[in-house]
Amino acid sequence: MSEATAPLVESLYTSPEGPPPEAVKKENRNQPRLIDQYGFGLIHLTPLLMIWSGFTWKDWLVCLFMYYFRMFFISAGYHRYFSHKTYETSRFFQFLIAFFAQTSIQKGALWWASQHRVHHRYSDTAHDPHSANIYGFFYAHIGWIMGPDYQKTRYDLIQDFAKYPELRFLNRYFMVPPIIMAVIIYFIGNMLNGQGLTDWNAGWSTVVVGYLTSTVILYHGTFSINSLMHKIARRRYRTKDHSRNNAVLALITMGEGWHNNHHYYQGSCRQGFFWWEFDPSYYVLKTLALFGIVWNIRPVPVEVKYGPKRLDGKTPPVKG
Ligand SMILES: [Zn+2]
Ligand SMILES: [Zn+2]
Repeated sequence: MSEATAPLVESLYTSPEGPPPEAVKKENRNQPRLIDQYGFGLIHLTPLLMIWSGFTWKDWLVCLFMYYFRMFFISAGYHRYFSHKTYETSRFFQFLIAFFAQTSIQKGALWWASQHRVHHRYSDTAHDPHSANIYGFFYAHIGWIMGPDYQKTRYDLIQDFAKYPELRFLNRYFMVPPIIMAVIIYFIGNMLNGQGLTDWNAGWSTVVVGYLTSTVILYHGTFSINSLMHKIARRRYRTKDHSRNNAVLALITMGEGWHNNHHYYQGSCRQGFFWWEFDPSYYVLKTLALFGIVWNIRPVPVEVKYGPKRLDGKTPPVKG
């Protein structure tokens, strides 16, 4: 029996590169139909509104700010808090995290985190919602989000947060935070580009560039983790999947590019395990901890960093 047709057994998963995708029996996945996902499609067309609204350099500053502001809440909120509980906070700040994360228009926090838990449970197996190795780049990047198979929140996997009615409300009415944010940005634009809050025509270009265009770029920054980070770049640790580490993706995603570190040890809030692994979400959380806004940020133990699963066999530096 050749390796390609061998049954998917544990030994395949423990190879340094993870399981060979050709050994996996694919599930039947329904491909997205644009007609069902017109909202997602239309958002991608909204940058064209610049032809009508024009833009100013201040709009592009808002675009940049809104990209990283929301990437922080995706990374530190959707991912490190709701999916993995790697630090603690108050019920009020927990609500704010969900609210601001949802201004990214990536559905509710309970939906996002529950599907991400499915990803970790089945990484790079047939049941992984977005394995680029098994279902291809396009499906891993946006196909699974647009298609009909993963539209529902897996409440069975997110009971620890679904017990909060305010989070269930946000998850159900997931467009409320984006609409509120768009209105706020419109008024900010009136002030930045015009004479004040009631300069009614000045803020439209800020909505188009600072919010909608920023949202489209933010989609693809976030989705690149799903599509690229199990496919390209280097692995430091032996894991049961194809996860990888990449510094460029870490810059784009506030530290989410250290994806192999994260798959190897999901319990840590810090994903850049070493000082040279840039992890801005972690630095912001450490700063919030100084003010008592978050606490119990879970670290990476030294024995984990230098454990036997390191592919380069490095051991901890000897002190003294
Ligand atoms: Zn994760
Ligand atoms: Zn992953």
